[in-house]
Amino acid sequence: MGALHTFWRTGVLGRCPECGRTSMFRSFYDLHETCAVCGTRFESSSGEWLGGTAIGYGIGAIVGFLFVLIEMRWAPFASLGLSTMWTMATIAAISLVATVVGYRPAKAMWFALLYEWGFMSRGDAPPTGSPPQR
Ligand SMILES: [Zn+2]
Repeated sequence: MGALHTFWRTGVLGRCPECGRTSMFRSFYDLHETCAVCGTRFESSSGEWLGGTAIGYGIGAIVGFLFVLIEMRWAPFASLGLSTMWTMATIAAISLVATVVGYRPAKAMWFALLYEWGFMSRGDAPPTGSPPQR
């Protein structure tokens, strides 16, 4: 229940994993440094954004792969009269859009995992490395 709750609250809704009372995001992509309510530090070391980026690229790759499979099976782009080159360019563009749009939820999912794995801390304290106490 606890991990699923974190997954929903942080990974899907983008809210603080500790208290859930504020959004982790100060803009579409950028995180606040800490939670304004409970003081949980979202990025306790530089480079923690990398996991979210990897998940975001994964989302783009999966969407692109699904569109390739759809095109191979039902050929919706070919039936619109698009050449192979334009079909590939269209699928690449769709994949890119999925990567850009999917980056925020991917980042939120990543920080939900970091929280569950004990890589977040309050204020300036170092991360404990242990999962949250419930
Ligand atoms: Zn909080």
